[in-house]
Amino acid sequence: MKAAAFNYQRANSIQEVIQLLGKYGDNAKLMAGGQSLLPSLNMRLSNPEILIDLQSIAELKGITQIDQVVRVGAMTTHTEIENSPIIQQHLPILSEAVPHIAHRAIRNLGTWGGSCVYGDPAAEWPACAIALDGVMVIQGAQGERRVLAKDFFLDLYTTALEPNEILVATEFNLSTATNKHYFEELSRRHGDYAATGIVCQVELKQDVVIDSRIVYFSVASTPLMALGVQESLNGKNIQSLISPEFLSSAIQMAKSEIATLADLTNSAQMKTHLVGVLLERALKHIAHQ
Ligand SMILES: Cc1cc2nc3c(=O)[nH]c(=O)nc-3n(C[C@H](O)[C@H](O)[C@H](O)COP(=O)(O)OP(=O)(O)OC[C@H]3O[C@@H](n4cnc5c(N)ncnc54)[C@H](O)[C@@H]3O)c2cc1C
Repeated sequence: MKAAAFNYQRANSIQEVIQLLGKYGDNAKLMAGGQSLLPSLNMRLSNPEILIDLQSIAELKGITQIDQVVRVGAMTTHTEIENSPIIQQHLPILSEAVPHIAHRAIRNLGTWGGSCVYGDPAAEWPACAIALDGVMVIQGAQGERRVLAKDFFLDLYTTALEPNEILVATEFNLSTATNKHYFEELSRRHGDYAATGIVCQVELKQDVVIDSRIVYFSVASTPLMALGVQESLNGKNIQSLISPEFLSSAIQMAKSEIATLADLTNSAQMKTHLVGVLLERALKHIAHQ
């Protein structure tokens, strides 16, 4: 099937985008890499009057570091994230996650912002943004507002972004504590969306956990944080996380607090099983890292 007819405009600044969104409202769609949007137009799941192309807006692109803050522009491609020395040094979870996103051709065009705003619960970036405590920088007619990543992903393909707003960037505050992390996803074939995935970030002070974030993706209608497990990690010596008793109770807790939903190919029961498998692998990896 082909998309219905639409108008097209290439915007040159964020301000121009906001003016166009004010003019066309719900009848406009922003286009980043087009990797999710264009298939949805072709399938007639969306029928906008006009596409506003973000490709020419330099201020939406690239990765910068200012002091302890790393900023990923919304129009930064998956491949640019993969190749960024700043990301490799400061946010290595993203470097490890990116090869799991689709295939090279899609990674060359698809963007950080497009993936976050699309809000696919099986996507890697929303879970990573939550695990790294990212802040979503949003611009609208009323100016800029900031939303914590954990509050941004509201439901299936639904975020806190209003129709007249644009996601400009995500900012990450770099912690000075010792960090350990783990990323893994299980899928049928490399490049497929995950059956279930996990992103963990643990902060330590002299081998004691002072903060942790454990986020699952492809388990429900949004990424989910294992809040109870996180709480149980805090204050523990890193080596005690892999005692058989602790592991067994943490796995039980994760399985009961992550309310899984079936997708087209995987049952909720299988996802719940994988929640436990991935947590065990994550804690063992982190303890030995
Ligand atoms: C075959 C295939 C396999 C894939 N596999 C994976 C995978 O394994 N993991 C994964 O995460 N993704 C996967 N994707 C999706 C891919 O990562 C896309 O790049 C991503 O979902 C959307 O990015 P985009 O830049 O192409 O956004 P677009 O498709 O251009 O836009 C997506 C949505 O976001 C909105 N939007 C885009 N940018 C902004 C912005 N700055 N502000 C406000 N709204 C905005 C658009 O209006 C649209 O509604 C796959 C895609 C394909 C086609």
